[in-house]
Amino acid sequence: MFLTGCFYFCNIKAHFLEFIQLGTAMIENLIQEDCGIFGIFGAKKAAELTYLGLYSLQHRGQEGAGIVSSDKERLYLHKGMGLVNDVFSEKEILSGLKGEIAIGHNRYSTTGSSFLVNVQPLLIKYKKGELAVAHNGNLTNSRALRRSMEKRGSIFQTTSDSEIVLHLIARSGKSSAVDMVKEALLQLKGAFSLVFLTSHSVIAARDPHGFRPLSLGRLKDAWVVASETCAFDIIGAKYQRDVLPGEVILIDNRGVKSYFPFKKTKEAFCIFEFIYFARPDSMIYGENVDKIRRRLGKQLATEQPSDADLVMSVPDSSNTATLGYSEESGIKYDFGLIRNHYIGRTFIHPDQKIRDLDARIKYNPVKGVLDGRRIIIVDDSIVRGTTSRKLVKMIRSAGASQIHFRVSSPPIISPCFYGIDMPTKEELIASSKSVEEIRQYLGVESLGYLSLEGMLSIHSLPKNNFCTACFSGRYPTEVEMNNTKYVLEKN
Ligand code: AMP
Repeated sequence: MFLTGCFYFCNIKAHFLEFIQLGTAMIENLIQEDCGIFGIFGAKKAAELTYLGLYSLQHRGQEGAGIVSSDKERLYLHKGMGLVNDVFSEKEILSGLKGEIAIGHNRYSTTGSSFLVNVQPLLIKYKKGELAVAHNGNLTNSRALRRSMEKRGSIFQTTSDSEIVLHLIARSGKSSAVDMVKEALLQLKGAFSLVFLTSHSVIAARDPHGFRPLSLGRLKDAWVVASETCAFDIIGAKYQRDVLPGEVILIDNRGVKSYFPFKKTKEAFCIFEFIYFARPDSMIYGENVDKIRRRLGKQLATEQPSDADLVMSVPDSSNTATLGYSEESGIKYDFGLIRNHYIGRTFIHPDQKIRDLDARIKYNPVKGVLDGRRIIIVDDSIVRGTTSRKLVKMIRSAGASQIHFRVSSPPIISPCFYGIDMPTKEELIASSKSVEEIRQYLGVESLGYLSLEGMLSIHSLPKNNFCTACFSGRYPTEVEMNNTKYVLEKN
């Protein structure tokens, strides 16, 4: 479906069906947006470059993708469900996205909200013309904002909290787009890395805590923004710097202009980006992800040693940490699991039954490597524990004589409200079970997690600059969810 102009006027039948489903989703289920975002200003074939950028940010979201471009006369949109390559499968789609300015988005969301209307960028018409947004993060005051707007008659098309941002901008009394954006952002709480597209500009913004990454790059005369620097590499752009926490950047014909509308506050960079989410070839928060992951593995080997014949990873997310573990311990790294790369990440499917099947479709044990051997398996994290348990069974049935499970992060005890897709507290295995109970549940000879202090010690940034809420239960901002107030971090 090729969408031009305002997204909700198109494909009325499909959207009507989605609205019926959305009715049941209600606002309690406002979705989390764990995503990849990209923006480019001043480049020929901006949409094609955005496509490439999204392609390298695919790991940040496989559920849907979209691009909006501008030829300074009007905005052009195409979006769809699925991988970037599937959504932009025909050449004509990209050539139809005209102009030298574009933004794009990869969506990664779960549970009940997998509808095309929620796929970003969202595009609206308002008093100043057309405006599109792509968002990575999660607003913690979205329910309150939305309720109060609905009371005053606002109509929402999606269950995405990003739509609230567009409403706030459209209501602003300021005269320029960037001032309207700044005024709207001051009303938001929580995590947001955003790129906006107007007919003549790209506006990038990062919340004052800087929860989610966002970088600024240069491609000859063009400016580029992206969630991760791997998106610059693919198009040959050069990393310039991070969009700073609390910074709003306007990119237009006059160049780049920076604003700091927020009160300065404590930085709270998401540490889970280093554990799992970001690609190892990216640089985020000024640190090299590959280096940090190796150090996590080394620190894990120091804290949680074990005798074994070989150490193996759960490909691909724990490969780099496993290298570190192997290097530090001197135990040989081997490939005991083969991953099928042609399916998405297990969490994409909201349905437990499909998730169950996924583990077997996704991984297969290598009998020749495992048979009769004492194994250390390093994974980057244990969330529900279900994948790990299935992997252990597979490895055992392939003949491993001992299995020592090592995790290159601390136990996850609290949900994330800042944009990483994590289940409720009840579903997080470490929120109610001790390490010994989890060991028994997994069925392994030993289980060892990295300590919180150990995880923080390997960064060059001060440990207070990170959000560790999922591991510590201490939240950098006030969060009230389902009548539970979460513990606020002491400054
Ligand atoms: P689980 O079965 O829930 O314990 O899944 C743990 C696995 O999921 C680990 O191998 C992680 O690499 C991976 N993982 C951790 N966090 C996420 C996330 N937010 N989305 C998808 N996969 C994740």
